[in-house]
Amino acid sequence: MKRINVKVGPTGYEIRIGSGIIAHAGSWLKDYVHKDHAAGFRHKAAIITDTNVKGLYAGQLERSLAAAGFYVTVLEVKAGEEQKTLETASSLYDRLAASFAERSTLILALGGGVIGDLAGFVAATYMRGVPYVQVPTSLLAMVDSSIGGKTAVDRGKTKNLIGAFYQPKMVIADIAALKTLPAAELSNGMGEAIKMAAISDVKFFRFLEENMKKAVALDPGVLEEIVYQNARQKAAVVVKDEKESGQRIILNYGHTIGHAVEAVSGFTLKHGQAVAVGMVAENKIARRRGLLSDVEAARIKEVLLSAGLPVNLPDFSREEKEKMHEAIKHDKKVVNEKIRFVLLKAIGRPVVVDDIGPDFIGEVLFD
Ligand code: NAD
Ligand code: ZN
Repeated sequence: MKRINVKVGPTGYEIRIGSGIIAHAGSWLKDYVHKDHAAGFRHKAAIITDTNVKGLYAGQLERSLAAAGFYVTVLEVKAGEEQKTLETASSLYDRLAASFAERSTLILALGGGVIGDLAGFVAATYMRGVPYVQVPTSLLAMVDSSIGGKTAVDRGKTKNLIGAFYQPKMVIADIAALKTLPAAELSNGMGEAIKMAAISDVKFFRFLEENMKKAVALDPGVLEEIVYQNARQKAAVVVKDEKESGQRIILNYGHTIGHAVEAVSGFTLKHGQAVAVGMVAENKIARRRGLLSDVEAARIKEVLLSAGLPVNLPDFSREEKEKMHEAIKHDKKVVNEKIRFVLLKAIGRPVVVDDIGPDFIGEVLFD
């Protein structure tokens, strides 16, 4: 098992990564709880999970917590982004209240990023905040969403409109859970993992190039290393910039164009796929600006392909291309009509460039 200490807030918290570690959750969390409370006190825990993950892992987690002396309630939410709403949060508040959840009740977010964001938001707001633990089960949640303390729900068409920064007490990433993850979801998470390597660490990038076949075949050792390297890098960025004012911007590599592609595709492309397309398109801009070399751009494309990710813009109609261009122009990173991009000078060396005009982008993307 690997551990990473995330030094945010008064005490910080640990990310633990390993195979089969859901079984240890109860004893680890009992220790944590006992630091704060008198011995002999039986604690309550509420597992929030979705309809896909419940049958697979909620039993294990529940048994582990119960064996450690927790009273456990399992609250299930239908799987899917459509559930990441205030309405679902409200129903969870009601169900928590009905099961007598108190200020000390521990919430466990067991699932992908949807459950992590939703249960994290509920934990941040129920009774002005109860402790919570992330137990990510999708690769995307392990490498990205469970780390950093961003919690949110969507509202109308706007993703993550309502939310809070709220740090978990622990993140427990059980690599064994990835065995049941659909292949498309594994690729989805790999998009973010490749992004992280490309912006932060050429050695980790080389590891991905050399091991992507094994990763796609679910080799647990390789997956553990990928999750560990990602979590380490993301934790480092988050510690420097807990509330997202500066440093975190580099995590947006591939995302300015990626978000536009994702939206114009009507979300038929998953986020990780859209980011893959976004990275390749933004690399084109970097090449035109004399930053990234052709050889390194090709390496990034190659590793994305080996992870089963798309690298070309979808076959958009003229109208869709215009929409995409508009979406980029209205991205939140636009300052004085110039669009701010995180581009690569080289693998592992991102730069923030904020003097790129919209015409230049159109020229590069739709030539
Ligand atoms: P998800 O939670 O919908 O999970 C994807 C699918 O995989 C779901 O159907 C889920 O039920 C299933 N699943 C999860 N784990 C499984 C397992 N082990 N075995 C079988 N099936 C499993 O989506 P996601 O891709 O994990 O997360 C996307 C969400 O994360 C979005 O809402 C996004 O906004 C959010 N996000 C948040 C942050 C952040 O910093 N908070 C960062 C990135 C993304
Ligand atoms: Zn992303």
